[in-house]
Amino acid sequence: MLIDTHCHLDPSYFPEGAEETLTRARSAGVTGFVCIGVGSLEQTQSALQLASRRADVWATVGVHPHDAAQCDAALQVELQKLAESQARVVAIGEIGLDYHYDHSPREQQQAVFRHFIGVARQLKKPIVIHTRSAPADTLRILEEERAQDVGGIIHCFSENKTFAQRALDLGFDLSFSGIVTFKKATDIQEVAAWAPADRILVETDSPYLAPVPLRGKRCEPAYVLHTARFVAGLRGVALEELAQITSQNATRRLGVSPVLHS
Ligand SMILES: [Zn+2]
Ligand SMILES: [Zn+2]
Repeated sequence: MLIDTHCHLDPSYFPEGAEETLTRARSAGVTGFVCIGVGSLEQTQSALQLASRRADVWATVGVHPHDAAQCDAALQVELQKLAESQARVVAIGEIGLDYHYDHSPREQQQAVFRHFIGVARQLKKPIVIHTRSAPADTLRILEEERAQDVGGIIHCFSENKTFAQRALDLGFDLSFSGIVTFKKATDIQEVAAWAPADRILVETDSPYLAPVPLRGKRCEPAYVLHTARFVAGLRGVALEELAQITSQNATRRLGVSPVLHS
């Protein structure tokens, strides 16, 4: 059993609907899906809808750093209402900083990031962090906004060991995506081999970043199996053990409980 702690499943990525994708993943042994509700209000609602109708799907609510420029006060209010009222919302996110693409001005990224850390603290929900090419500012803002009070997950972990240690110290678990299977990802592999067993998770970030040997394909939650197998290999443990500890960690961190399929 495996839990995909980070997937995007709305119709903009899966125009045929999520059902067959979920079925394929369940057959591959995936017992839980955390569907990330970012992009637009519509996409957030779509994630919530998916989660509200299925026992093995949960959702998050947030504003991706790419979309920070479009996040006005009205949207902030609307999203907070959803995060407060919907029982299937297990975290705030993904929020954070992306200085690689800079789709939104950095000042706005930071302001939105700070705002939603505040929301997470208010609602006592963990935070899902997206960080790319912005390690120092990410850690600084997490500290300044006292994100440690709620903790959370560094999703799609792609930093080095120094960053990993500071994130762990701040109460953030490390979630590994297909990137860890890429040949050149030696820093990330080092972290995946070293990180404490009770602080690691696996995810697909579907539809992006399909793991080796499916790299380049549209990624879907079933593929989390390849990432888990690779991380198990790095750590010298059996896939079953890796699946068990990462699922336990997801349950502890997000309150999600796996649903067994017969
Ligand atoms: Zn992300
Ligand atoms: Zn994502």
